Amino acid sequence: MKVLRHRHSLKKRIESLKEKDLSIGFVPTMGALHDGHLSLVIKARKENDIVVASLFVNPLQFGPKEDLKKYPRNFIRDRKLFEKAGVDILFAPSPDEFYPPNFQNHIQVGSLSKGLCGRTRPHHFGGVATVVLRLINLVQPDRMYLGQKDFQQVRVLEQLIIDMDLSTKIVRCPIVRETDGLAMSSRNVYLSPEERGEAPILQASLRSIARLIQKGEKRPKILQKELIRGLKLAKTARVDYAEIVDAQTLRPVVELTPLPHKREILIAAALCFSKARLIDNILIKV
Ligand code: AMP
Repeated sequence: MKVLRHRHSLKKRIESLKEKDLSIGFVPTMGALHDGHLSLVIKARKENDIVVASLFVNPLQFGPKEDLKKYPRNFIRDRKLFEKAGVDILFAPSPDEFYPPNFQNHIQVGSLSKGLCGRTRPHHFGGVATVVLRLINLVQPDRMYLGQKDFQQVRVLEQLIIDMDLSTKIVRCPIVRETDGLAMSSRNVYLSPEERGEAPILQASLRSIARLIQKGEKRPKILQKELIRGLKLAKTARVDYAEIVDAQTLRPVVELTPLPHKREILIAAALCFSKARLIDNILIKV
């Protein structure tokens, strides 16, 4: 595996791969790797000639009071894990290298970024879209692998690809979980033992709502109320949001009746623990 720290060396490498007509799969990450990240690499490895991963804790997607400085970083461990999972090129720039001093243009994201996580993180998805657009321009991937744990991020980036007329295809990858159901996240290390004990309530509550829908409950207000009730069983956390939204528009669902075409519904929630805000979701077809 080649580790590249500079944009110009990455560009040169990509140029020569393109000349050889090799397909490129790309996995953007902020490091602090777990099996969720590695599942994206493994899928990319199967579907492409070359796998490029990036490791960059993007300052633009953190709010002023968020955990940018404290975000877990362990380059040596991450490098080994990336290599073992089959990455060919690891792009790991410094913030100054990635955003040169005169950098001043940002992507302004639309309605997909306003609800769910966007309500408490108003600048987050603009920062994500800016970093990913820049990474796509550098890496020129045929496919980019994203985890559905960050479903809103997936939808924002799918729309970015359409709006900017990019040819990269987004591959959505399933959520990888701990054995007790908690979605893997780099932020799980912030949980105290007591909080870690309660954290699986997040997924359990989402699942109980999916079951209610499957049993025929069609009233979103009732479903949301039940979801909040379930989430509140986690006494060490505060409910940030609990929503039933259309998986395409991310707007709250008013009625759960099927549309003429197949409709996907997202049940999504976020719990704030003392040092970690955890998100999770379930996608269901109605
Ligand atoms: P991050 O390093 O948190 O920016 O995440 C990098 C990529 O890994 C994103 O596409 C995430 O959605 C994905 N990811 C994070 N956690 C998981 C998980 N538990 N299962 C699958 N993908 C994940």
